[in-house]
Amino acid sequence: MSALSGAVLSLLFSAVLALAVGWAAYAALGWAVLAAALFLQLLYHLRHFVLLERWSRQPTLTNRLQGSGVWDEVLARLYRHQRAQEMEVREARHNANMYVAAGQALIDGLMSLDAAGHIEWCNASAEEMLGLNRRSDLGQPLVNLVRHPQFVQHFKQGDFRRPLTMPSPADDSRVLSLHVVVYGGKRKLIQVRDITQSCRLDEMRRDFVANVSHELRTPLTVLSGFIETLAGLQLDEQERQHYLKLMAEQSIRMQRLLDELLILSNLESSPPPPATEQVNMTELTAKVLRDAQALSAGRHRVWLEKEGEGDLLGSEAEIASALSNLVSNAVRYTPEGGEVRLLWQVNGKGARFTVEDTGIGIDAKHLPRLTERFYRVDRSRSRETGGTGLGLSIVKHALQRHQGHLEIESTLGKGSRFIACFPLSRVAARMPAFQIVAGA
Ligand code: ADP
Repeated sequence: MSALSGAVLSLLFSAVLALAVGWAAYAALGWAVLAAALFLQLLYHLRHFVLLERWSRQPTLTNRLQGSGVWDEVLARLYRHQRAQEMEVREARHNANMYVAAGQALIDGLMSLDAAGHIEWCNASAEEMLGLNRRSDLGQPLVNLVRHPQFVQHFKQGDFRRPLTMPSPADDSRVLSLHVVVYGGKRKLIQVRDITQSCRLDEMRRDFVANVSHELRTPLTVLSGFIETLAGLQLDEQERQHYLKLMAEQSIRMQRLLDELLILSNLESSPPPPATEQVNMTELTAKVLRDAQALSAGRHRVWLEKEGEGDLLGSEAEIASALSNLVSNAVRYTPEGGEVRLLWQVNGKGARFTVEDTGIGIDAKHLPRLTERFYRVDRSRSRETGGTGLGLSIVKHALQRHQGHLEIESTLGKGSRFIACFPLSRVAARMPAFQIVAGA
């Protein structure tokens, strides 16, 4: 039975009762009964109105309304409705919080501005990249806080089809890309991205192409000059041989450059070598020593020392290339009469191959850039000794692919120490030597 029909029924019942009394007794008593019944019903409804009025001032689910009779159902329905609404509000709030949390978790910076360009909301990345303070800067016009002329002009022009590239106001060594999106009339959403790394990569790529072109152009110019000389001049056999020798030197130089570029590109593009191949370091260090002695051709004292036993796990070709480059540099940059000491150490922390020389040494200011491609302290000296400027780059990459790294210590005029360090995970116990069992 609905609340309304309940109320109508009780009215009908009062009327029928009053009629019955009026008919059975006398009319005045019937009216009195009707008046009393109506008064009681009025009181009953008034009491519930008062309850409802009080509850409506603070309609929460904690102070649940308790009615009686027909009101019980009305209040229960109201309570259910209120509960459903509260749950909807809670869910909407939860969703809004999740969106805000997602916006906060973005690595890119995100910020919303109202139609007048005041900051409404911004995430931590935008705050950090643009040097803002979320507490004090909310509600401020963004152009008053980010005052870089490029940004102010971009913002005022209002042409947001292309993102703006500008230095970070917080740290001008960082490059930012700002993309403004207009929505909901004049409101704006700004996406801020740190593109420092990709700008650096672009710059490196441009430098690299310029360097390779330069490195190849020099020997090519020399070669074409000699070809013209050989073709245009009448030369005796001795002169011809001399020019041919110089031409051969230039083509060897180009060949070496291309070989090293290929090695570098392989190191950069192929997956790192698995730690399954065991490299026999007794043999490899002995070979590196022999190569160094051959390159020195008796001009230096070159020797190898060992501390501990152990092999490396990884690519023999890459490890050999790293060690050979270090050793060849030591020989090439050490004047005649100097010393080159090689040291292979294995201990509980890992393994190290040290190449120490008493050569020309390197000024400390060059050390951080030595492993960059084509970086040379003295370009002509490097060329004279057949250097390509790629050796230490190859060493760095080869070591990194074995989770290792290169340490460099040097004193100008006294000598250098290059240390190839490998972690314990790349060290294997020495392979047991093959033994001939007597009588077997
Ligand atoms: P390069 O082919 O020119 O030797 P590397 O990449 O092997 O190129 O080395 C980069 C630069 O580091 C060299 O040009 C040289 O100036 C310096 N260098 C490397 N090894 C030594 C060393 N043992 N002693 C002095 N300078 C060195």
